[in-house]
Order: sequence, then structure tokens, then C-alpha cells
Amino acid sequence: MSNQLQDKIAIVTGAASGIGREIATVYAKEGAKVAIADLNLAAAQAAADSIGPNAMAVAMDVTDEAQVNAAVAQVIKTWGGVDILVSNAGIQIVHPLEEFPFAEWKKMLAIHLDGAFLTTKACLPHMYASGRGGSVIYMGSVHSKEASMLKAPYVAAKHGLIGLAKVIAKEGAKHKVRANVICPGFVRTPLVDKQIPEQSKALGISEDDVIKKVMLKETVDGEFTTTADVAATALFFAAFPTNALTGQSLVVSHGWFMQ
Ligand code: NAD
Repeated sequence: MSNQLQDKIAIVTGAASGIGREIATVYAKEGAKVAIADLNLAAAQAAADSIGPNAMAVAMDVTDEAQVNAAVAQVIKTWGGVDILVSNAGIQIVHPLEEFPFAEWKKMLAIHLDGAFLTTKACLPHMYASGRGGSVIYMGSVHSKEASMLKAPYVAAKHGLIGLAKVIAKEGAKHKVRANVICPGFVRTPLVDKQIPEQSKALGISEDDVIKKVMLKETVDGEFTTTADVAATALFFAAFPTNALTGQSLVVSHGWFMQ
């Protein structure tokens, strides 16, 4: 433990599972107080219990403005502020575009883009008022830079997060609020485990081929990115002290996408 986030207060959405849970764990190890904000309150509570006394679970559907505002207010009331927001909650739905149900397109954009907007809107006034500045981190994807078949709303939303981060970087600068995007390659989490059989069926290839010939095909070494890789990047963005690093997006993908 090196206490890079000593006395910081963080809210991580979608932190009951996968990447968000690992980020919350690393932030707490580095001295932060961490709110595990998730749709699944029981899983969020289990994550908070395993992290320890510096973690609290809060119920939050990131698409619901009242729930977002209530959860952020609960964190402010308990800990007195918020210094770091990691907007990470996300799901995946795959279909060819011509078959994509409009309701599912809207659900994807609501979770990935409305969720980022609503949580940022709720946290920014507290970051601005504190005088300490803050760090807003969006969980993008290689799909913030690159496209894959069957993922129209995911790719559109993940590209959109980069635009949102650039605006927050400009608006937040005078308050020392930075905004950046992490763009991971494939990470073995429940979100990806669900996609393997779905893509196998949609593309008519074996599950092994989905992993080797679709997901990891363009990497430099055929390796999955890990939750630890992504959490280390999230720590770097959260701990970075100045506006020198803002409005950026960083790809962590075993070379799948190179800028
Ligand atoms: P995961 O399924 O393990 O965890 C996602 C969490 O988000 C779950 O705890 C779920 O309950 C929560 N969630 C879903 N909808 C929500 C909502 N409306 N409000 C609040 N919480 C909600 O997924 P993960 O792989 O850890 O993904 C986390 C983020 O990382 C997502 O934004 C995803 O797009 C992104 N990402 C994942 C990968 C990957 O390969 N796993 C790669 C690049 C980007």
C-alpha cells in the first residue's frame, strides 16, 4: 500500500462486479474511501464487506436521475465530499444492426451515456465547491476507437464518452477537475463471459474461435487484459495531480488497438 489516494473519496459505478470491483479494491488499498454504486445492492454490499470499513455500498441505477442524485447525496452526507468518479457501469447487447430492437439500442445508450452524464452532473458541483479539484474517469473500451460487428450501440456510446470527457476537461479545468477515458481490450468478466456463447451463435463459429479469432485476434500476444491492468490505469488517472493529464483516452489492450 502506497497511499496514493489517502483521504480521497471515490464513487465507482458498477463496482459490484468485474472491472469496477477491482478498481474499488485498489482505490481502498491506496487509502481512499470508496462507494460501491451498483444496480445490484446485495452484490455491492458483498463487495463493500470484502473491501472493508473504507467501502460502502449504495444502490444506484445509473439511468435514473433521482437514484443517481440520492446515492451521491448519501456519499456526501456520510463522507463529506467526492474527489473521484469512475463511471464504469455497463452492459453488452449484440445483434446485427438491421435486427437491433430500438428499445435495446436505447437501453445501451441510457446505461453507457446517460449514466456517465447523470453521475458526472451529480458529482461536479461537489468537486467544484471543495477547492480540491477532482478526477472523472469514464470506462470506455477499445470500442471507443475501433468497431466490431454486432455492437452498434456499444461502439457508438463508447466513442461518445471520449467527446464527453473532452468537454468536462474544458469546463472543469478552472476547478482542477480532470476527465479521462480508459479503453480496455477484452477482460474476462461476467460481461465478456456472457458474450462468448452469444457471438458463437451469431457468427456461427465455436466458442474457442470467438476467443482466439475474434476477441484476441489483433492483440500482440493473444492475451486477455486483466481487471488488475485496468485498475492500475484507473489509479494512475485518479492520482495524477495536475491538469496536464486531462481530456485523454488511454488504450490498455495488449496492443489490439495502437494509436
Ligand atoms: P460486469 O458485468 O462484470 O460488471 C458490470 C456491473 O455494472 C455489474 O455489477 C452490474 O450490476 C452493473 N450495472 C449494470 N447496469 C447498471 C446500471 N444501470 N446501474 C448501475 N450499475 C449497473 O462488467 P465489466 O466487464 O466489469 O464492465 C465494466 C465496464 O467496463 C463496462 O462499462 C464495460 O463496457 C467496460 N469494458 C469491459 C470490457 C471487458 O472486456 N470486460 C472491455 C472494455 C470495457
